[in-house]
Amino acid sequence: MLTTKKQTSGSKSSGLKAETEGFIIAAQDQSLATRSYHASIIKDGSSPLCRMCNKYDETIEHIVSGCPELAKTEYTHRHDKAAAYIHRKVCHNYNIKTSEKTVV
Ligand SMILES: [Zn+2]
Repeated sequence: MLTTKKQTSGSKSSGLKAETEGFIIAAQDQSLATRSYHASIIKDGSSPLCRMCNKYDETIEHIVSGCPELAKTEYTHRHDKAAAYIHRKVCHNYNIKTSEKTVV
């Protein structure tokens, strides 16, 4: 669970900077300045289409997991980084020595 700025110094701190937490909360609330947000909430007349693929509305969900252009590179990179982190933690937990190449 994320904490508010006032809670970051308490025992339930997420370990994230308040600025980072604020960004995550804004993303969860769908209130980041995506093109879809500008087109549908601000109603500034701009296109809601994704600036990467220009095919689908640029929403938070689209950016995080639905963009065909980002899928070619960024999603794979994110997957590999997460898998390497989990691998390293599992190996550490079971005292399995890992090579330097697996360090994230
Ligand atoms: Zn896209």
